[in-house]
Amino acid sequence: MDPVDPRSVADRMWQQESRFGRRAEVLFVDRLTPTGTVRIGARVADDRPLDYSPGQFLAIQADVPGVGLQHSPYCMFLPPAADRSFEMLIRVFPEGPLSHYLASAPPGTELAFRGPSGRSMRPKDDDGGAELVMLATGVGISPFHALVLDLLGRGDTRRIRLFWGLRLAEDICLTGELDALAAAYPNFTYEISLSQPPDDWTGLRGRVTESVPPLLETLGGKRFYLSGNGAMAEEMEIALSDMGVDRTLIHQERFFNARHRADPADMEAIVARFVATDIYSPHAQQQAPLLFAIERDIHGRKVGPG
Ligand SMILES: Cc1cc2nc3c(=O)[nH]c(=O)nc-3n(C[C@H](O)[C@H](O)[C@H](O)COP(=O)(O)OP(=O)(O)OC[C@H]3O[C@@H](n4cnc5c(N)ncnc54)[C@H](O)[C@@H]3O)c2cc1C
Repeated sequence: MDPVDPRSVADRMWQQESRFGRRAEVLFVDRLTPTGTVRIGARVADDRPLDYSPGQFLAIQADVPGVGLQHSPYCMFLPPAADRSFEMLIRVFPEGPLSHYLASAPPGTELAFRGPSGRSMRPKDDDGGAELVMLATGVGISPFHALVLDLLGRGDTRRIRLFWGLRLAEDICLTGELDALAAAYPNFTYEISLSQPPDDWTGLRGRVTESVPPLLETLGGKRFYLSGNGAMAEEMEIALSDMGVDRTLIHQERFFNARHRADPADMEAIVARFVATDIYSPHAQQQAPLLFAIERDIHGRKVGPG
C-alpha cells in the first residue's frame, strides 16, 4: 500500500473546509411533528448576498461533536428574503449526525455553507397555460413550498396541484400555511396522501404512486415536479415518460434513495392506475386507439399518418 502523504491529507482537509466558505447563524428551530420534522431559520452571517431560485439548495457543513465535519444539501423552504434570512425543512434521523445536530442547534449556532446550487424549479414563461403538478414525499415538500410561494407571489395564474405523501397522521404539518394559500389563491390546491392512515382519515390513502395516477384526467399540457424519496421520483418519472410526457417537462429532486432501480412489476401496477384520457396511457389507448395514430412521440415526431 502507498504510504499516506500527510501533506496531501492536510491539503484535502483544508480544501474540503474552504469549499464551505460562507457563514450563517441559526435563528430558530421549530419542531413541527413528533416524528422528526423541524423547520430551521437562519441568516447569512458573512458580508455577501444570498440570491437563489426556488428548488435550489445549500450544502450545510457543521462540526458535529464526537463525529467531526459533516455536510449535506438542504433545499430552501422559502423564496429569497431581502434580509438574507432563509429557512429549511429537515427530517431528523436519530442515527443521522447532521440532521440531529441541526435540530438541536440553539439560536446563535454558526453554520458553514456553500451554494446555492442545483437547478431552479421556476417554469419558463413560455410554458403558457401549462398546469403544474407536484408530487412530494416527506420533507420533499420543501422546494415546492418555496416555488408555490414564489409563483403565487408573482401573480402566476397557472393551476398548481400539490400532492403530499406522508406515512402517518403524526407526520402532518404545515396545514395552516397550505390552507391559507389555498384559500387566498383559487389556482392552488393541495392534498395529503397517507400511506398508513388511521381509520377515520378522509384524505387520500396510499403512497402517492397509488393515489395520484387515478386523479390525473390528462397528462398533456402539464409540467410535473417530483421531490423527496428517490424511489417515488424514479417510478413516477418512468411511468410518465413511458406514457409520452417529455422528460424536459419532468423536474425531480431526489433527497435519498437516489440509486433506486424500479421493479418492473411495481411499474406495471403504477402505470395501470393511470386513467388519463390523452397521450399514451394504456387507458387512453383502449378508449380511442385511432387518436394515437396522429399523436407525436416523446421527441415531438409524428408517429402515425396525418
Ligand atoms: C439535492 C438534495 C436536497 C436535499 N434537501 C433536503 C431537505 O430540504 N431536507 C431534508 O431533511 N433533507 C434533504 N436532503 C437529504 C439530506 O441532505 C441528508 O441526506 C439528511 O439530512 C441526512 O443527513 P444526516 O447526516 O443526518 O444522516 P445520514 O447519515 O447522511 O443519513 C441517514 C440515513 O437517512 C437516509 N435519508 C436521508 N434523507 C432521508 C429522508 N428525507 N427520508 C428518509 N431517509 C432519508 C439516508 O439515506 C441514510 O440512510 C437533500 C438531499 C439532496 C441530495
